[in-house]
Amino acid sequence: MRVRIPSVPFFSKRNLEKRLRLAPSPTGLFHIGTARTALFNWLYAKKIGGKFLIRIEDTDFLRSKSEYTKNILEGLKWLGLIWDEEPIKQSDRISIHKSHIKKLLECGAAYRCFTTEDEISELREEQKKKGLPPKHDNRHRSLSKEEIETFISQGRTSVIRFKIDEKIEIKWVDQIRGEIKWQGKDLGGDLVLSRRAKGFEIGDPLYNLAVVVDDNFMNITHVVRGEDHISNTAKQILIYKALNFSLPTFSHTPLILNSEGKKLSKRDCVTSIDEFREMGYLPEALSNYMAFLGWSPKSADREILSLEEISEIFDLSEINKAGAKFSWEKLNWINSQYIKNMESIKLSKIMKKYWDDNGWEPPSKEWAYKLAILIRDSITLLKDSIDQSKPFFLIPTIQKEGQDFLENRDSKLSLKLILNYLIEQNTIKLNKEKAKEIINKISKKHNIKKGVLMKSLRVAFFGSLSGPDLIQSWELFAESKTDRARIERCL
Ligand code: GLU
Repeated sequence: MRVRIPSVPFFSKRNLEKRLRLAPSPTGLFHIGTARTALFNWLYAKKIGGKFLIRIEDTDFLRSKSEYTKNILEGLKWLGLIWDEEPIKQSDRISIHKSHIKKLLECGAAYRCFTTEDEISELREEQKKKGLPPKHDNRHRSLSKEEIETFISQGRTSVIRFKIDEKIEIKWVDQIRGEIKWQGKDLGGDLVLSRRAKGFEIGDPLYNLAVVVDDNFMNITHVVRGEDHISNTAKQILIYKALNFSLPTFSHTPLILNSEGKKLSKRDCVTSIDEFREMGYLPEALSNYMAFLGWSPKSADREILSLEEISEIFDLSEINKAGAKFSWEKLNWINSQYIKNMESIKLSKIMKKYWDDNGWEPPSKEWAYKLAILIRDSITLLKDSIDQSKPFFLIPTIQKEGQDFLENRDSKLSLKLILNYLIEQNTIKLNKEKAKEIINKISKKHNIKKGVLMKSLRVAFFGSLSGPDLIQSWELFAESKTDRARIERCL
């Protein structure tokens, strides 16, 4: 009996490994939309035990910049979205892309098109007049050898076009949107695979060709990207088939919308991950928020979840089809929750950067930890820690409401009594218990309401009637040896 040997190796890598990728174009700073796509890819890769890869699509030489690549990779790292293999640069693979275009030319799936820019503009004008969408008329699909040579001898340049059958229907099951159908006649005519080139040369390959060749090369099994790529997917499926590559699954995520329901853009002020970082968002809070931007999990019982926790319950099928509205309120709330729950050492380290910027030096590490804990409930953005910690480093001026309060006879008396007590008991180390005791004693002995004593102190410490917990603050002022000076200046 003869044994049939399968033509495809049985244990191909594809059978074993799930591979997802982010394929950013480095033509601008790392954008929140790209970051959210990265996050969904990363989460799903972790969920299914696969790999998360990066391909830098830098073949738009005019707009691509290495500083943007650096910015994207740094932003991913900052968000905690670490990739599993060395990133691939698309520009390193141009000759491979060209060899695939050659293959498509040779098998008749693609051809040289010599239509000039002027001819294309004329065609567009005509279509416009008739109210038709722009579409190439595939006029050079069946040029003879002689016609091609004539065009070349006239010095015309050519692009390579991929034939798209007008009658074909392209169908796939999108992991987010279910079955998607696209008609060949709606793809704008035969697809340009490469830029213009002279003679029989092949020009620089374009996105739809390069992406298919590279996704196949990288053994990508799941393509997860924004819904603005749906029509590209239809085109790419045809290229996959023509090159005899096996198809990955496709998922198209909803766009991020502004409060008016329009695509989030630069006009909405903040769009780059750098800006979010500078504004004082924590990476874990931003990732947590972005995960819920378009994803409504059935199994999440909380909104504050780490990336690892989210990856366990994450599912592409639970991503919404409709656009996801960006909400500053929600993002701020999540950020404040992370700050509230952050442990003192980590938080004070983060705050130290702001203190250093202002030339403020805490008297001790413990003091810095205590200050971080004391003010963290009133912080939404990390940079709020400047305003919140300022009165602990600099003695604030007394505001109108503070001055008005000090006009009250008992309040100055209160401060005098407290100051005298502190001077008398010079050696005491003031802690919370001692502070409470002082207030109680003076209140009883001099028959002054505790509230008046405390409000007077608050004015002395903060210059107004608001601020964080008074007793805990006093402990810090005592340690930084500024409590007496704060009181004295009111008298
Ligand atoms: N370079 C494309 C972009 O940034 C990638 C699209 C894709 O994921 O295939 O939009």
